[in-house]
Amino acid sequence: MAASIQDTLKRYWGYSSFRPMQEEVIRYILQRKDCLVLMPTGGGKSICYQLPALLMDGTALVISPLISLMKDQVDALRSVGIAAAALNSSTETSEMLLTEGACLKRTLKILYMSPETALSRRRDLLSLMKISMFAVDEAHCVSHWGHDFRPEYTQLTELRRDFPNVPVVALTATADKLTRKDIIRQLWLRSPRIFISSFNRPNLSLSVVQGLTKREKMKRIILFIRQHPLQSGIIYALSRQSAESIRRYLISCGIPALCYHAGMASAERSRVQDWFQRDRVRVVCATVAFGMGIDKSNIRWVIHYNLPGSIENFYQEIGRAGRDGLPAETILFYNYGDVVQRGHFARQSGLQEINLQRLRRMQEYAEASVCRRRILLNYFGEHTAEDCHNCDVCKNPPQRFDGTIIAQKLMSAAMRTREMANLPLLIDILTGQYTMGVTTRGYQGLKTFGVGRDLTRFHWQSYALQMLQLGYIDIAYDQDNAIRVTSLGKEVLTGRRTVGLVEYHPHSFLGGQTSKSARPASTLKSVFPGAPEEDQQLFEALRLLRHQLADQQGVAPYIVFGDKTLHMLARFKPTSLESFALIDGVGEKKLLLYGKAFIHEIRKYK
Ligand code: ADP
Ligand code: ZN
Repeated sequence: MAASIQDTLKRYWGYSSFRPMQEEVIRYILQRKDCLVLMPTGGGKSICYQLPALLMDGTALVISPLISLMKDQVDALRSVGIAAAALNSSTETSEMLLTEGACLKRTLKILYMSPETALSRRRDLLSLMKISMFAVDEAHCVSHWGHDFRPEYTQLTELRRDFPNVPVVALTATADKLTRKDIIRQLWLRSPRIFISSFNRPNLSLSVVQGLTKREKMKRIILFIRQHPLQSGIIYALSRQSAESIRRYLISCGIPALCYHAGMASAERSRVQDWFQRDRVRVVCATVAFGMGIDKSNIRWVIHYNLPGSIENFYQEIGRAGRDGLPAETILFYNYGDVVQRGHFARQSGLQEINLQRLRRMQEYAEASVCRRRILLNYFGEHTAEDCHNCDVCKNPPQRFDGTIIAQKLMSAAMRTREMANLPLLIDILTGQYTMGVTTRGYQGLKTFGVGRDLTRFHWQSYALQMLQLGYIDIAYDQDNAIRVTSLGKEVLTGRRTVGLVEYHPHSFLGGQTSKSARPASTLKSVFPGAPEEDQQLFEALRLLRHQLADQQGVAPYIVFGDKTLHMLARFKPTSLESFALIDGVGEKKLLLYGKAFIHEIRKYK
């Protein structure tokens, strides 16, 4: 069996080795036992059930919540020569008849279904098939605790009841314990083995940029996109309006971009998704709604325009970048306004305590002065003693200084307003601005008026954020976000405690060393150690060829070949079918379909 698992991986997918945990899961599933697989987004969950499905008798039934995702998965499977199909509410009759026929003739290896379809067809279609396993993808959808709860997922026990002998494999990227328990309970998994793979995604670089205005954020984004032409990326925003306005700005700067949010008609949303998958548009400005339905393996960057509400969400969103394992960049913009707004959201939500807790953990990440990846991994219960060297903190360790006087100025200003002023107003006072807010309350007469003129607003915002994080001040959300001084803060005011702050560096990313060392061109080297230099021109030519072939077949370019395969081709320049077959990502079917065309292109360059 050992050989055949490896062979199957190479033969169909063209990969020469398994990702961590895949092989273990596959071997276990082949024993026809229940299990729960926890892997980060992009960790390679699909192969865990797709490969054993090929080796088992009958058809594997995959329950998936998203119709758009099914189509991609089916496209990808067919492109490597696996008999796969999908049935859901949007399947056309002719297609449905074909698929049903294949089910009954038992020629299908993998069938994707929405939970509704699976439940409604369990007594007719399913009962006539030979089902090898049930794979429940995005299994966290059974849990009320997650953000993607789907009531129809909770009825999947009906399948277990009707097909007691068919093993159930549940898969998810959501790691928290409550959800895990819920999945096992709701799906009636029988003494399942739980596989938890590392949540580390070392190819994702992490960086946070604090305290920028909208204008400055946009400038950074434009600069970033210009430095990464031809790369696909997502900008996540908090609201539809801001997604729209980011898009308008990008377009005014000559950068084509589309929006994706819940306010759009569903046909429009599918079109955006489709264009993005097919590289017809490189940049999408989206709310969190975007992404669950995309499988695109070559998203090269993800920018968060605002602070996400939890590390879970954040990690899932950045996880959409770099699924192919190649370097990808993530940037999180974070400022004081986000904290206030997110705080309000959390307070209004039904799960106030939990959501506030989640937000606090997210802030800890954004405020970190230690390796950010360690914070993320800690959150997922993985404790490591190693710094990652691929986050902004590792690359550019923050300089701490004695900020006691700064902290005292801010808190004393707060005390003198009798803790009635919010941060913008406090900063007006500190920097000596005669604004409406100041003069109508007579704050210009305070002793602290203007004592902070030596620093900019942004300095003050950054330091206030840090003080918030360190527990010296607090925000009274129910009183116009007034700043309160905590008992810890009072110890600072009375000189019993000192405050270490991190220097505010508005330009710590882009333009400096950081951006250079994070640029894919230099880090790609580490992905292909010992490989010859890449021929850029050839890479572009191959990319173009990939695009043409994909268009001819009506699939997304990455379905033809992933970016990694293209990079390897542009390095090793194989000119025979034998050497072409050795490249990662080239399986039997793709060799046959595309080998000649790519070899022809490579020969032209040699
Ligand atoms: P997930 O569902 O966990 O987010 P996928 O199953 O979509 O991740 O896999 C992410 C990407 O990784 C896909 O492009 C897939 O082809 C690729 N991949 C999976 N396993 C391997 C492997 N063993 N070697 C190389 N690439 C792999
Ligand atoms: Zn780090």
